[in-house]
Formats: sequence, C-alpha cells, structure tokens
Amino acid sequence: MRLLLPLAVAIASASNAPNLLAGPSDSAIENANSNAKFLRCGTEHPGAAKAAKEEKRFRDLLRQVKNGKKPDRPGGGNGNGNGGGGGGGEEPPTTTVPSPGSIVIETYINVICTSGGSCPASDSQVLEQIQVLNAAFSSTPYYFQQIGGIDRYDNTSWYTAGPGSAAEAQMKSSLRRGDRGDLNIYVSNPGGGLLGWATFPSSYTSAPSNDGIVVLGASLPGGIAEPYNGGDTTVHEVGHWLGLYHTFQGGCRGGGDFVADTPAVRSPNYGCPVGTDSCRKSPDDDVFNYMDYTDDSCMFRFSSGQVERAYEQSLTYRNLDAI
Ligand SMILES: [Zn+2]
Repeated sequence: MRLLLPLAVAIASASNAPNLLAGPSDSAIENANSNAKFLRCGTEHPGAAKAAKEEKRFRDLLRQVKNGKKPDRPGGGNGNGNGGGGGGGEEPPTTTVPSPGSIVIETYINVICTSGGSCPASDSQVLEQIQVLNAAFSSTPYYFQQIGGIDRYDNTSWYTAGPGSAAEAQMKSSLRRGDRGDLNIYVSNPGGGLLGWATFPSSYTSAPSNDGIVVLGASLPGGIAEPYNGGDTTVHEVGHWLGLYHTFQGGCRGGGDFVADTPAVRSPNYGCPVGTDSCRKSPDDDVFNYMDYTDDSCMFRFSSGQVERAYEQSLTYRNLDAI
C-alpha cells in the first residue's frame, strides 16, 4: 500500500491494516527489508517463487498470443507454427511497441462519497488527474479516454473500504463497467494511510469484477496528501494495472521486476534519494521511476523496458493493442 503516514504512525496502524504480506512464505525477500512492512501501495505482489511461476505462464501465453496474432515468419506454413517454438523456454517473437497514443483505454471514473455527500475530490481535481495520467504515459502507447461523466456515489461503507474488504467487493461488483481492457478508477478515502492499490492484468480472469484501481482522493492533484498530491499515485497504480511490478520487487536477487533495464532495488525508496545504489551488482536505483515509492515531485518516468512489459502484459491478459 502507498502509506501516507510517517513510519512511526504506520507501525501503530499496521495491526489494523489488512495483512497484505501474509502471502507465500517466499515473500520473506520483501519482508527482509523493514520498509516493506509499511508499503504505501496496497497492491498485493506475489512472493519470489510465485512471481517466477507466474512469469513462466505469462511468457507461454504471450508466445501463443503473438503466434496467433501474426505469422512468425513470412511464408511460414502451419508446420512452422507452434512446433517451431519447441526449443522450450524460447522467447516469443520480438515485441514492437505500438506508437504513442495508439492504444486507447476507456476509463470510467467512480467517485465515492460519504452517505452525507462529502466527497474525496472535486470534478476539477479529477479532470486534472486524467491530464496528469495521460502526460505520464505520453511516451507510451496508452491514452486514457474518460467515458461518461464523473459519477458520484454516496456510500460511507464504500468510501472507507480497504483492499480485500467485503465493502470493496460490494462496491466494485456494483459499479464496475466495461470489459478486461477497460479501466475503472475508484476515488475514495480508505484511511490507514493507504494511497491506493490496483489489480494486475493476470488477475482479471479469476476475478473480473475486482479489476481496477482505488486511489485516495487526497492524492489527486491539489489534494492534501502532501508530498503525494501530484497525481502520481494514480499513475503508479495504473502501472500495476498494466502489468508492472515495483522496481524493488524481489529485492537485489532473482528476477526482480522482470524488466531488464530497471536496476535492482533492495527496498522502497522514499523522498528523493538521488544517487542511491542499494544493490551492489546493479547500477544506481532509478528513484525517478513511477514504480518506486518516492515523492510525486521525484518520480517522472517509466523505462522503455517497463513500457514493453506493460504492452506485453496488457496484450496478453487485456487484449489491448493498437487500433
Ligand atoms: Zn505499488
């Protein structure tokens, strides 16, 4: 979870928070770093072993999607189809990331207010948030097109719903619109220092109604969640929704975030600690990356490897491709 509170406060509130790290025992890699207990982002990440397993499945599916999308080689007959990939563990055909703005994602905005009509963000903040989101993804294939209006719902239970709660499930099953390629954003006030959370593309099939991102209204541009009030929580959570892990996923060892050009990062970075090199065998941490935990004023980029992964993930699991 992206936590707004200082660490000391987060410690006190941790007992009330969902036990997000109670997953596989191999999550010990992230637990090994004390900051990981105080994730600001509630997106549930797999432990190392599960992530490796999921990655293998993803690569298999991606290969199938690509081979089904277009012939691997010009003139190749059926005999060169899947059988040609029989080497085991072969990489799929090279990925060509579509041009900027060529993949339009229909985006639904759900603003959750209290039953008394107190809302976490204004219309102008929401509109500015969409601008911030599109600016952040402007060098990627993705463009987020708001569909319909800014819909507001008065429900105090939903307003404070945390990740994995019954209230969250009820909210999403009542409100979610679109299919696997459509983004639903829920703007609420979950409390406990949570800034937001997301579902991964690979989760859609098993839990379609749960798909989407939830963000703290105060994290929207002009909100009070300083230094996380520049709108980058939404950018970060959409990064997850497209298939990106944290840059510190897996720590210094193993597959990490499965992106080749993001240096390994031992643990979340906070503030803007330029020059940090947390893993000896890897270059300096990319503290400017949207998928770390630094301040909104610090984070401003995705790497080209992340853009490629987002495309591959969302092509595979969300059928999102250039028009
Ligand atoms: Zn996150």
